[in-house]
Amino acid sequence: MTLAGPAVSSKTASKPDRTVAKRRLVVVSNRVAVPRPGRTGGEGGLAVGVKAALEESGGMWFGWSGKTIDHEKGEPDAADLSESGPITYATIDLTQRDYDEYYNGFANRSIWPLFHYRLDLADFNRRYLAGYQRVNALFARRLAPLLRADDLLWIHDYHLIPMAEQLRHMGCRQIMGFFLHIPWPAMEVLLALPNQRALVQSLCAYDLVGFQTEDYRKAFLDYCQRELSATILEDGTVEAFGRRVRTGTFPISIDTEPLAKAAEEASDSRQIRRLRESVRNRDLIIGVDRLDYSKGLLVRVQAYEHLLRAYPANRGRVVMLQIAPPSRMEVPEYMQLRHEMEGACGHLNGAFAEFDWTPVRYLNKGFSRRMLAGFYRTARVGLVTPLRDGMNLVAKEYVASQDPEDPGVLVLSRFAGAARELDGALIVNPYDLEATAEAMQTALSLDLEERRERYRTMFKHLQTYDIDRWREDYLSVLAA
Ligand code: UDP
Repeated sequence: MTLAGPAVSSKTASKPDRTVAKRRLVVVSNRVAVPRPGRTGGEGGLAVGVKAALEESGGMWFGWSGKTIDHEKGEPDAADLSESGPITYATIDLTQRDYDEYYNGFANRSIWPLFHYRLDLADFNRRYLAGYQRVNALFARRLAPLLRADDLLWIHDYHLIPMAEQLRHMGCRQIMGFFLHIPWPAMEVLLALPNQRALVQSLCAYDLVGFQTEDYRKAFLDYCQRELSATILEDGTVEAFGRRVRTGTFPISIDTEPLAKAAEEASDSRQIRRLRESVRNRDLIIGVDRLDYSKGLLVRVQAYEHLLRAYPANRGRVVMLQIAPPSRMEVPEYMQLRHEMEGACGHLNGAFAEFDWTPVRYLNKGFSRRMLAGFYRTARVGLVTPLRDGMNLVAKEYVASQDPEDPGVLVLSRFAGAARELDGALIVNPYDLEATAEAMQTALSLDLEERRERYRTMFKHLQTYDIDRWREDYLSVLAA
């Protein structure tokens, strides 16, 4: 077994200098995790990584407040500022129209489906694009007055691709880096986006563009070379539109050690004991995903049905727990998926359930990461089968949460970025239902020695390449 190499690709432009210059860090993301009394621990990878970076160097976190205001009131004049320790939080509200066009529209109905290879679901309404440009310009106008000359800017994700270009138009000359959390699609797919050239041009306003995997970075370089006739230097620097932009691969990760500890502690908690009692001596298979069509939830239920048909000894012997908190419910495709999943799980239970056994437990709600860690540790199989996923942190969290003495097995889609690192998993093509069912069967029957071996290689990798390493690698390359 070989695991993926260092988190920073050898093709990354400059060697990482781990002593990030003590410039002020300014992070920009769509949402900002402003601390509120009584709210702790519910944050995902981005929030954990960003907060740790800001705590270390001091800095500012800028983005949308999560609140919408009436259109009539007009856009806010200035960002709301609040401080917590060394971090300044700067947020702005959006009008309902901005939210509909920028967030629900261009970000989640144009870019998201396209970048996840769902051309059939993409809607390229020009109004959405106009809203996207308008909100990025608004963000830039409200951020620019707060910037200092030697700030280091780190801008996150597909909502904010044009931010740097907007800031440059306003005369901002700071070092600016971008990190894309979702996949970058192959050129043939990207070409379907009407304004794709302008979008790539706006990426060239950054000094560094980071991707989750080498495949995504190469797909970006491929587009630049073939469509823009850009010069690509040996180290992956792109020369286009009169600028030079460096590129690099930085797989996002998790807080491995704290999560492993939380999983161990949670396994003694009342809720996890209740889960174990309810599962009894059966094997638990777990899936945890936002209710999103990219996550391959429907094919997962179908693959599970194949498992029960092809290996009937599993009937009454396994239980699948699928946690799927609703997300983006204002986007019609997500509502549709919710109906389809309810139908699929209802059908499966109707066909197979017995008076004392229900094959699938489908939960339309979210849990804290701590609680999830306890769930993961209880599950013999972690089922992560996205049809396309930038990284997939659940896959990493499942591994980190296992009991080293008696670990479960991860079944992982080859189309998740995490598959490039976690090759102690059973890697599957989620479109191949029968092969996925076979992998589930293998996962249920692996002997202890092999389970330990697979776990050890992956856990060791995650100890080295954790969330701290991700941000240190990115920021040291950006600052170099
Ligand atoms: N998550 C959570 N509660 C839930 C479901 C998910 O806290 O009920 C967290 C999960 O632990 C992970 C993140 O949400 O940290 C999901 O990240 P991932 O990369 O797997 O998928 P994304 O939702 O970002 O596409």
